[in-house]
Amino acid sequence: MSKRYDLESQLKDIDVPVILFENVSKEYQSGIPALKNVNIEIRKGEFVFIVGNSGSGKSTLIKLMLREIKPTSGRVYVAGKLLEKLRRWQVAKFRRKLGIVFQDFRLLPDRSVFENVAFAQHVIEAPAREIRRQTPRMLALVGLSEKGRAMPGELSGGEQQRVALARALVNNPVILLADEPTGNLDPKNSWEIMHLLEDINRRGTTVVVVTHNREIVDEMQKRVITVKNGIIVSDQKGGYAYAKNEYSSI
Ligand code: ADP
Ligand code: MG
Repeated sequence: MSKRYDLESQLKDIDVPVILFENVSKEYQSGIPALKNVNIEIRKGEFVFIVGNSGSGKSTLIKLMLREIKPTSGRVYVAGKLLEKLRRWQVAKFRRKLGIVFQDFRLLPDRSVFENVAFAQHVIEAPAREIRRQTPRMLALVGLSEKGRAMPGELSGGEQQRVALARALVNNPVILLADEPTGNLDPKNSWEIMHLLEDINRRGTTVVVVTHNREIVDEMQKRVITVKNGIIVSDQKGGYAYAKNEYSSI
């Protein structure tokens, strides 16, 4: 067992927020606030859904967590770092702690499935031996052991998203952030991705998922944060209940 893994397994037992938003507001150039005074605390090992209408600020929340953007006011802490303080080289290092999945998969189209997953490890300068070991493990985890030589264009949407998930997980992230990961998938593939996310969460990774999929949110009974016009209007364990009662247009 590596030293790094050892330290991570010790930290796992400490009940600290891995994501903390303190009075966070965000205005893009327009001057119209995309988020207003948001407070969120997500602890290590949690599984959290973020739901809300289109344009309500869900992707803005994810982008703040990735330090793709900075808040206009307030503070965002992720994995123990106050993100606004990070210098450019520190941002790159910080992002290595995150796994990220998007609606549109974002695979390298001219690289094989194996190379797509291996590439994420090259970027962090993992040793070749480690890459040869880890890549097949991750492909097995997402049920794609037989597809390593395939090109992304030869795969179904569900398979492509599983490759994206393998790539997001290969460097053993502390947090997995997924922005509408099932947005382009049919119900069967959506469930497969969600069950994989649940497995990953059981292994200790904190998972944050933006979704519109009411059926899945209702069924899975996790913590659900509901955003409306840039405000957190509900944060509770259970299903899509608040949305159903208050505004049925989602
Ligand atoms: P969601 O992901 O819930 O659909 P977003 O976080 O993408 O919502 O957007 C929240 C609000 O911020 C929307 O009104 C959107 O138009 C606006 N917005 C998002 N990104 C930008 C941007 N880069 N520049 C200006 N306005 C933006
Ligand atoms: Mg969005």
